[in-house]
Amino acid sequence: MTPIEQRNELLANKVIKSLNTRHIEGYFCATSADAVKKVLGLIPQGSSISWGGSMTIRDMGLTDALHKTDAYKIYDRDQAQSPEEVQATYRQTFGADFYISSANAMSEQGDIVNIDGNGNRVAAIAWGPKKVIFVVGINKIAKDLDAAIKRARGTAAPINTVRLNRETPCTLDGVCHDCHSPNSICNQIHIIRNSYDNGRFCVVIVGEELGY
Ligand code: SF4
Repeated sequence: MTPIEQRNELLANKVIKSLNTRHIEGYFCATSADAVKKVLGLIPQGSSISWGGSMTIRDMGLTDALHKTDAYKIYDRDQAQSPEEVQATYRQTFGADFYISSANAMSEQGDIVNIDGNGNRVAAIAWGPKKVIFVVGINKIAKDLDAAIKRARGTAAPINTVRLNRETPCTLDGVCHDCHSPNSICNQIHIIRNSYDNGRFCVVIVGEELGY
């Protein structure tokens, strides 16, 4: 194991201990491939599953792996044929057994930060699907909650506006201007700071840089 791999595992285990104090399950996987297997193992056959716009879960091959098994009922907005079907998928998501997401940032203390434009993702994280599994690259972990919010707003959001080709100030210079643009993707900021002890939230930390 390289020093970087050792440090990533140490950091992830520290965060997982913090998550446990907030009644949130946590697991560490050294690689994306291990994380795909872990998530598949966490979801019983026959479950219904949905997810938001996370690039992490797409890029690591998780969404493809879920589609490849016939074990699940999947509500996938990427397969919607019209804006109306996208909206219908958003609403079906609330009745799903599992919701899979990444996070825009996490603190070492276990806060989970997400920013949303439509609000469908943070709404499903907050309430609806019976269980939420976050898959989080080691690069998303920040020193504390303030640093996590800064990461989400100052790093993740401007990259996503470029990806989505939004007409926002950050698309022009890569820096957040705390805008009130109608095209802003930063309309809602959600922080999980604690959970009921019902096993609803689970975080799989991956020892690789994933997503933005
Ligand atoms: S400039 Fe606006 S859209 Fe861009 S990151 Fe800041 S608040 Fe979000």
